[in-house]
Amino acid sequence: MLTFKIFYGLLKMNLNLPDVKIKIGFEIHQQLDTKKKLFCDCYCVDANNLDSTFIRKLRPTQSELGFFDSTTIFESKKNRLIKYHFSPNSSCLVEADEEPPHDINSDALETALIISLALHSTIVDEIHVMRKIVIDGSNTSGFQRTMLIATGGYIEVNDNKIGIQTISLEEDASKIISDDGVFREYSLDRLGVPLIEIAVEPVTVSGKIEEIIKIATTIGQLLRASKRVSRGLGSIRQDVNISINDGNVVEVKGVQQLDQLFTMIKYEIFRQHGLMLISEKLKTIQKTHEIAIGSKIIDVHDIMNNSKSKVIKKIITSSGDCIFKAIRIDGFGGLLGFEPYPGIRLGKELGELVRFYGIGGIFHSDELPNYGITLQEVQMVRKRLDIITDEINAFILVGGPSEILDYVINAICERLSYALIGVPYETRAITVEGKTVFSRPRAGSARMYPETDIPPFQISPLLLESLYTKIPKTWNDIILSITQKYKINIQLAEQIFDSRYYQIFEKISDSTSIPPSFVASKLVEDITNLERQGFDSKLLTIDMIKDVFSRLELNEIAKESIPLIFEKIMKNDVAGVEDAIVVLGLKSLTETELNEVIDSIIQEYSDIIKSKGRDSFSLLMGRSMSKLRGKVDGQKVNNIIKQKLEQLVHNRSK
Ligand SMILES: [Zn+2]
Repeated sequence: MLTFKIFYGLLKMNLNLPDVKIKIGFEIHQQLDTKKKLFCDCYCVDANNLDSTFIRKLRPTQSELGFFDSTTIFESKKNRLIKYHFSPNSSCLVEADEEPPHDINSDALETALIISLALHSTIVDEIHVMRKIVIDGSNTSGFQRTMLIATGGYIEVNDNKIGIQTISLEEDASKIISDDGVFREYSLDRLGVPLIEIAVEPVTVSGKIEEIIKIATTIGQLLRASKRVSRGLGSIRQDVNISINDGNVVEVKGVQQLDQLFTMIKYEIFRQHGLMLISEKLKTIQKTHEIAIGSKIIDVHDIMNNSKSKVIKKIITSSGDCIFKAIRIDGFGGLLGFEPYPGIRLGKELGELVRFYGIGGIFHSDELPNYGITLQEVQMVRKRLDIITDEINAFILVGGPSEILDYVINAICERLSYALIGVPYETRAITVEGKTVFSRPRAGSARMYPETDIPPFQISPLLLESLYTKIPKTWNDIILSITQKYKINIQLAEQIFDSRYYQIFEKISDSTSIPPSFVASKLVEDITNLERQGFDSKLLTIDMIKDVFSRLELNEIAKESIPLIFEKIMKNDVAGVEDAIVVLGLKSLTETELNEVIDSIIQEYSDIIKSKGRDSFSLLMGRSMSKLRGKVDGQKVNNIIKQKLEQLVHNRSK
C-alpha cells in the first residue's frame, strides 16, 4: 500500500520531466485474426471450459548452440511443476508437444506478408522457422516457434519516416493463470495463436512522450486497417526498450494500452534519471571515500533467531533451513533510502530484485531500526560488520532458505555495483497502474536454433505479386473516404471502421434507404452504451443486426425500437429478433390500427380539444406516443395527429 501511495504521488505531483534525451524502441506483438492456429487446425478461441489438465516438470534443455544464460540456470534450479489447463476445442496434441507441428497456416503467412509490404519492408528470400528457448513453461515444448518474414522498411508518422527493423511471424504463448511457487498454471487456448512481431527502430525524442504514443498509434491503425488482426484486450502487446541520456537499455514487457504506455514511459524516465542522480552522488563520495560492495558478508542468524520482530519470525517460519546474512557496503551510507524522486530509491530496487528469487524483501541500514528490529539488534550487526561510521558505511540484511541465499547475495552485490554506472540492463514488467517492476536480468540473445520439423521454404513471386492489391490504404485515407461516401463525420467514421460492425454497416448502408449516420450510431453508440451497462454484445449476431435493419426498411418496426431490441437480445432475455419484437409488443401497427388508437385518444380528450383547440396538440402527442412508442415512427404519429386536429378545429369553426 505504501509503495502505491508513493507512486501515485510521483505521477500526480506534476513534477516536470527531467530534461533528458529519451531513446525508445518498440516491439509490437499483434494477434492475427485467423480462424485457426499457426501450426495446427485448432480454432483460435478463448475456451471457457478448460476442463482437462496435464502436468509437466520443467527442465530446460541446453540449446543446440550450447548456450545457457544465468536466468536459465537459476530457473532450472527451481524444478518447477507446471499444470496446463485445456479444452479439446482449442488444443490438440501439437499444443501438448506430443505431435510435430503441421504445415504453416497460409492465412497467417499472407497477413504477415501484406503487413510487411505495407511497411515497405524487404521480404526475406527463404523463410526459416526457428525455435526460441523459453524457460518459464509458457510453451509446453520449452521453445517458441518464430520466423523472420521481412527486414527494413518504414512507417510515416507526422511526415517523419520511422524505421522498421524486422517483421516476424510467431506463435503466441500460453496464458498464465496462477503461480504459487510450487505449481505454475497455464491455459493452453492461446498457445499457437499467430502473432506478428514488428520491431521498430529506436527513436530519440526530447521530453515529448506524445511523439512516441503517436508512433504506436499509427502502427496500431495500420494493423487494424488491414482488418486481419484481432481486437480486444490482450490482442496487442508491446515490449518497449527505453533508455535515457545514452544509458543502458531497459526492456519493459507486456504493455497493452496506450494510456498505460504513456504512464510507464513517464515512470521509467523518472526512475532512470533518479538512478543516474544516485550514481552521481556515489561518484562524489568516491573522491573522498572508498566504495566497496560486500567488503564483509557475515552470518547473523543467531542474532535474528532471537528477534521479537514479527517480520523476521515470518521469514524464519516460511522458509525451511532459513539463514540470515548481513552485507557490508562501504560508501553507501544514506544512499539506500535516498529518494531523488518520490518512490525511486536503491532500497526499493533491491527489494524488487530479490523477489525474483522468491525472497520477500531486504532490510537496509537507512531504514533500521524498524519492522520490530531493535536498535540493539542493529548495533550488534554493525559491530560484527566492523562498521564504525554509519553516515558513510551501510549494510543490508537478508534472510531466506540457505540453498539460494548465496545467489541472492551475489545478485544484490552485482546490482549495487551498477549503482555507480546508473541504470542496469534488465527486463521489467508493467503493473496495472503503469509503473514498472524488475522481472529478470536481460536474457542473452543466442537462444534460437532451427526448427527441424519444418523445412525452410520460399515465398513464390506469384504469391507476392497477388498480395500487392491487398495492401491496406492508410488510416487517414480510409476514414476520409468513409466520411465522403456515407456523409458521416470523422469521429463516427473512425468508430464504425474500428468496430467489428464495419462490414455490416457497409452492407446495410449500401443496400437500404436508411441513413448511414443512423446505422453507424446504432451500431457503435447504442451497442457500446449497452455494453457499459454490462450486457453482452456477443449475443447480438451479425445476422440479427441485418434482420433488425431490414425490418426497419420494410416499416415493420419503428427506428425507436432498435435499441430496445438490442437490449433484450444482449440481456439474453429473448432467443432472437422476432422473439424480442413479440415480448416488447413492438409489432408495427397497420394504418387502420394506428388510426384507431389515435381516434380513441382524441375521443377521450374531446373536451380539452374543444376548449384549447390547436394548443392541445402536445397533450395528444404525448398520450399517443406513450401507447405507440417503438411501434410507429414518431414523425408519422405527429403528422396524423396534426392532420386530425386541424380537421376538428376547422370543422368546429364552420
Ligand atoms: Zn492444436
